Amino acid sequence: MKLLMHMCCGPCSCYPLKKLRTDGIEPTGYFFNPNIHPYKEWEERLQNARKFAELSEMDFIADEAYSLRDFLKKALPAEGMRKGRCQMCYAWRLEQTAKYASEHAFDAFTSTLFYSIYQQHELMRAVAEDFAASYGVSFYYEDFRIGWQDGIDLSKEMDLYRQSYCGCVFSEEERYSRSLRKLQRKENKEKKRLRLMA
Ligand code: SF4
Repeated sequence: MKLLMHMCCGPCSCYPLKKLRTDGIEPTGYFFNPNIHPYKEWEERLQNARKFAELSEMDFIADEAYSLRDFLKKALPAEGMRKGRCQMCYAWRLEQTAKYASEHAFDAFTSTLFYSIYQQHELMRAVAEDFAASYGVSFYYEDFRIGWQDGIDLSKEMDLYRQSYCGCVFSEEERYSRSLRKLQRKENKEKKRLRLMA
């Protein structure tokens, strides 16, 4: 099977590639991530994805456009609803992967996003299946989360850069802003209190 594997970054690619090769599938890596900011972070993740591909001797294709402005145009209307913003982000990356796979004679596509324990797995799966149908190419589904620790160990052995936030400027703020985290804790406490009263 000729498989295009969308890569969100190097570390998240470690387990999926290992598993696919165990199953006799040799994928081509595809880096397309307009959601990563700021520029130096995007560049670092791109370089690490390339480093991973070279060390693993895997074919690799990268879309090298840095798309902060386009991302903001799409994300700002959805900001405030994490689900809405992330849904847009999954859809953008998975649609482009399905489109690329279809236009370049791949049999199927998948994504290392299905390795992450932090993403909305079932939502991404539904989105990927929709685009597979739209572009006439198969979606290769596998729940790579099972290899979470294995992937971490492999990425450390390969000395890959391991990022500390998801990718967009909003996720960077959510990761580091003390006031935002305090507010979120307060909101969660209030939700819990209302649930107990119901
Ligand atoms: S938090 Fe992650 S998945 Fe959600 S919009 Fe930002 S980069 Fe995309």
